[in-house]
Amino acid sequence: MLLIRNGRVLDPASNTDALLDVLLDGERISRIGANLSAPDAEILDAAGLVVAPGFIDLHCHLREPGQELSETIETGTRAAARGGFTAVCCMPNTLPVNDNASVTRGIVERAAANSSVRVWPIGAASIGSKGEALAEIAAMKSAGIVGVSDDGKPVATARLMRQVMDYCNALGLPVIDHCEDPSLFAGGVMREGRHSLRLGLKGIPAESESICVGRDVEVAGLTGARLHIAHMSTKRSLEYVRMAKKLGLRVTCEVTPHHFTLTDEDVRYDSHYKMNPPLASREDREALIAGLADGSIDAIATDHAPHHPASKDVEFDRAPFGITGFETALALALSELVHPGRISLMQLVELFTTGPARVLGIERKIAPNQLADVTVFSTERPWTFQAAESASKSRNTPFDGRVFRGGPVATLVAGRLAYKHS
Ligand SMILES: [Zn+2]
Ligand SMILES: [Zn+2]
Repeated sequence: MLLIRNGRVLDPASNTDALLDVLLDGERISRIGANLSAPDAEILDAAGLVVAPGFIDLHCHLREPGQELSETIETGTRAAARGGFTAVCCMPNTLPVNDNASVTRGIVERAAANSSVRVWPIGAASIGSKGEALAEIAAMKSAGIVGVSDDGKPVATARLMRQVMDYCNALGLPVIDHCEDPSLFAGGVMREGRHSLRLGLKGIPAESESICVGRDVEVAGLTGARLHIAHMSTKRSLEYVRMAKKLGLRVTCEVTPHHFTLTDEDVRYDSHYKMNPPLASREDREALIAGLADGSIDAIATDHAPHHPASKDVEFDRAPFGITGFETALALALSELVHPGRISLMQLVELFTTGPARVLGIERKIAPNQLADVTVFSTERPWTFQAAESASKSRNTPFDGRVFRGGPVATLVAGRLAYKHS
């Protein structure tokens, strides 16, 4: 048994914000209350810290199978635990693509043997994510997928999206789309605008994303299926999501820490600023923060996308898209959103816990008999992120050396300490 003592329990599911003890017994939460007595329990002193339900990351790339030079399930989930995450959803663009039950089973088995946190795979929507024939979605669901996506690319056509949604609707799975119009995206490396012109880099217009979001919302209206917009980065995309919610459609969305922190003005000739979707305009960033504050945005997701140093250490044009994200996500949310007063601490917790849980159709709360997945963090601890000390195999982050106030202190998965700050 483990007793988490004297923490400030923040639980959006029950709107709890109080100094309480939480007793974990094996893989479940046993009791919560003031001054709990459990003489045999190990003690975790959480005085001055926040005790939250276990954080869920809806979007990451663990690179296994196939790209183990960049990351493995073992290293990726160790980084996730250091970031406060107790469960991560890994995208299917591995080698081979997770488009059938045997690949899904392989990921689930490797995770059972090697991972620090829960690994919930996302299955491909189409075979090889090629946008032609439907993948074996039902068989992958039996093997453990929690959603479907062709991430890395959008679901290729409206017609295929309709089929995928009809199929997933029957199975109770969300369809997660990486929204971009490939014909507008073509060859671009950063957001199109004044700053891409200044740098002489080929731009990607914001509309590449929002056209696809608009299409997906229309197809969600047609099918009634659950649609989740991945790593949303533009104001117009958010307007489509707001409209969909107003119409009562089952549409949700996530944003990444880098999109609410940086803009295209921050981009320089350094491939650590190259990601997809690209860093957006200042106006987009403002709109996303407003969407986080008013509840239009359901979740913060990292899109942790490790690339080994050799692949990123090339010209901007040739570098792959993506940055790592697990270990800086919470600290960026505290620094950019909570400390400046843009969202409340309860809202932050919701964006990492009940928000993503709702997208997956599951519960997340601190209550007796719930899974003993708990994230303990500080809102004040000063620290500096050093990419060289990351648990990830990769170092591709624009946040190396950034000074933070607040971050993860302990990550508990199924009642066991997956990470503890020392
Ligand atoms: Zn993507
Ligand atoms: Zn991704």
